[in-house]
Amino acid sequence: MMAAENLNVQGEIRHNEPMSRHTSWRAGGPAEVFFVPASIDDLSAFLAGLDAGTPVFWHGAGSNLLVREGGLPGVVISASRILRNLERVDRYGVRAGAGLPCTQLARQCIRWKLGPSEFFAGIPGTVGGALAMNAGAHGGETWERVESVRTIDRQGEIHEHAPAEYTVGYRSVTGPSNEWFLEAMLRFEPGVVPSMEAMKSLLERRKATQPLGLPSCGSVFRNPPGDYSARLIEAAGLKGYRIGGAEVSEKHANFIINRDNASATDIEALIEHVRQTVADVHGVNLVHEVRIVGEAPA
Ligand SMILES: Cc1cc2nc3c(=O)[nH]c(=O)nc-3n(C[C@H](O)[C@H](O)[C@H](O)COP(=O)(O)OP(=O)(O)OC[C@H]3O[C@@H](n4cnc5c(N)ncnc54)[C@H](O)[C@@H]3O)c2cc1C
Repeated sequence: MMAAENLNVQGEIRHNEPMSRHTSWRAGGPAEVFFVPASIDDLSAFLAGLDAGTPVFWHGAGSNLLVREGGLPGVVISASRILRNLERVDRYGVRAGAGLPCTQLARQCIRWKLGPSEFFAGIPGTVGGALAMNAGAHGGETWERVESVRTIDRQGEIHEHAPAEYTVGYRSVTGPSNEWFLEAMLRFEPGVVPSMEAMKSLLERRKATQPLGLPSCGSVFRNPPGDYSARLIEAAGLKGYRIGGAEVSEKHANFIINRDNASATDIEALIEHVRQTVADVHGVNLVHEVRIVGEAPA
């Protein structure tokens, strides 16, 4: 067991915290320790005092996360509350904290007439999660806007990095290991003026095509080159297919919804069933976009 209890921190430490409370799928096992820091200094002190062998997992809004029933050993850090800063730095530049919801980033940038920024409105996660995933929608992607990032490492030290230090692809980002995002400098484009109307119509389109009232993690699989996962899943006859309480959405085949008290095991089994069926029917191996973490049930 880690020495988290002995650390002198101001933030909140919870033991065996059910991650079902912190994921948009509303499913999943517990975090051994769930830490909500009171400030960045508090977070630094906590990290500096942790045993080197204690696993650390960073939680944003949990909108792309499946935590297996056996839960997450070590520490889950949930720092979104202390990282909600958003400042306009110069004409086209803003500094956004990693805990800021992307929806708030979009709305404020639209008020500031900074675009393209509407696409952030449809992403129900944090800026940190968007940086980790290179989240995108409607032709826009997070890292197209990144000028620099500020991170914290496993020892609690703070760093600045340029985009060139990361390898960024479609829903994939790799960079300095064992570091997490604290904030990003984002740069928007001269002459691209976004509008609330355009944002609202993108959100309306989502409402019409996605099962937004039900617990999900958005698109489960990345789109394969030149095709759409939703099309392949629908054509394989999987819409409405259920395992336990988990169901392939009738409205959008790349969404798996928690229809009725689904466990993480139900959801993971359904992900695997969809992957296998699409491979058998179409010969395409879908790769999941959602992050699947934690231990299998004992
Ligand atoms: C209804 C719905 C619609 C969606 N639509 C879209 C969409 O259009 N486009 C899209 O790209 N995604 C979409 N998503 C998926 C999800 O919202 C994004 O992937 C989002 O970026 C995840 O952010 P989060 O804060 O919830 O991250 P989490 O789910 O909490 O974490 C995801 C990963 O990011 C890591 N992470 C989180 N914060 C940090 C940090 N500060 N530093 C380092 N790593 C971090 C976590 O460790 C984890 O590995 C949708 C989800 C839902 C539920």
